[in-house]
Amino acid sequence: KAYIDAIEKLNPTLNAYVHLTFDTAMKAARQADQMLKEGDAPLLCGIPMALKDNICTDGLTTTCCSKILQDFKPYYDATVWEKLKSQGAVLLGKTNMDEFAMGSTSETSCYGAPLNPRNTNYVTGGSSGGSAAVVGANLAAYSLGSDTGGSIRQPASFCGVVGLKPTYGAVSRYGLIAYGSSLDQIGPMTNSVKDAAIVFDAIKGGDKRDQTSVEYEYGSSLAECMDRDIKGMRIGVAEEFFSGINPEIKSKIEEAIKLFERNGAVIENISLPALKLALPVYYIIACAEASSNLGRYDGIRYGYRTSSYTSIEDMIVKTRSEGFGDEVKRRIMLGTYVLSSGYYDAYYKKACLIREEINREFYTVFEKCDVLIAPTAPNTAFPLNCKGASPVEMYLSDICTVPVNIAGVPAISVPCGEDAKGLPVGMQIIGRRFGEATILQAAHFYE
Ligand code: GLN
Repeated sequence: KAYIDAIEKLNPTLNAYVHLTFDTAMKAARQADQMLKEGDAPLLCGIPMALKDNICTDGLTTTCCSKILQDFKPYYDATVWEKLKSQGAVLLGKTNMDEFAMGSTSETSCYGAPLNPRNTNYVTGGSSGGSAAVVGANLAAYSLGSDTGGSIRQPASFCGVVGLKPTYGAVSRYGLIAYGSSLDQIGPMTNSVKDAAIVFDAIKGGDKRDQTSVEYEYGSSLAECMDRDIKGMRIGVAEEFFSGINPEIKSKIEEAIKLFERNGAVIENISLPALKLALPVYYIIACAEASSNLGRYDGIRYGYRTSSYTSIEDMIVKTRSEGFGDEVKRRIMLGTYVLSSGYYDAYYKKACLIREEINREFYTVFEKCDVLIAPTAPNTAFPLNCKGASPVEMYLSDICTVPVNIAGVPAISVPCGEDAKGLPVGMQIIGRRFGEATILQAAHFYE
């Protein structure tokens, strides 16, 4: 009830939730109460939380904040939601996001942008902006976001919360509305590293409905990682992550690295030369996969359909023209272009080859480092309405986060002080595949 009161008070301003599910929340809360009374309740039982609006919830509106999925009610639950529900989680609502998770400010949402709870003149970041805002404003104890190229970590850094992007395959994508299928991962957004570990533990695991997911044996490492100190931990620092970064952010991250060193970590200066190709590789692969994934929105199977048309083809063209926003159309066109005959070899195939090279570089680096430390983003939160005009400038701000998705490795963003305007700075800790326990350990030490 306290969360509902807070949401009723603050959400009209913050616009962080786009669909509220208070009726089902109260029902779930009563059931959780019963489970608690019977004893032996799971860790997340009765805890109020939120889901990004691209995670399917049986019978509850799920729109990806796009007009084309207006009023769409899935008839099944995403695996992550099924898992949390079985623990007695209480869903308060679905959170605002960039349309189809494409963007870095959440301003491409068909519901308008959510506002940053730290300062409402600024964006929340994107695309999981609503999920970051509800946690930052204490309108949910935790939320889930999705991260294709930084969409959990960057809004976490803009709103001063913790965001974990798990290893590709660690969490089932079943029921996550696809953007870039080889990059997408669901992960927790929380107010503490410990909470992130608990929620990750609850949602991870192999799922036969997502053939790219695996059952990795973390053993007791996730529960124990909080207690270990960081003496002897080998921390890699790659200069490529620091070029073009706002100097205020750079110095905050450097201070944090010194703190690790003073406490016994070993700092290794390393180099990841292929990183400079990560942005073009990401935007080619993500758009290519998006153009294919979004082919299913034809006005027949889901959501919105245009009101007047003369033929099926006319209906599909009009539905897609009216239903998708500009950024989504731009990505579909870019993706279709790089996959088309004559351009496939020059763009898509080349991007896939360079992706392999980036993977190899990360692999080599993690032979001598346990984690890498980098900024989460080159800047703190942007003022509202300043990025829409220049898509390329917006793409450039993803430079620190996209390499992690390309390589499929895990990374966490933790708050790391504030800039002179009082806006939160985020530090990113990157690990080797299935190295979640190690990045959580480092993050918890710093927190
Ligand atoms: N800003 C990135 C993009 O627009 C991140 C998206 C994401 O992680 N979903 O593609």
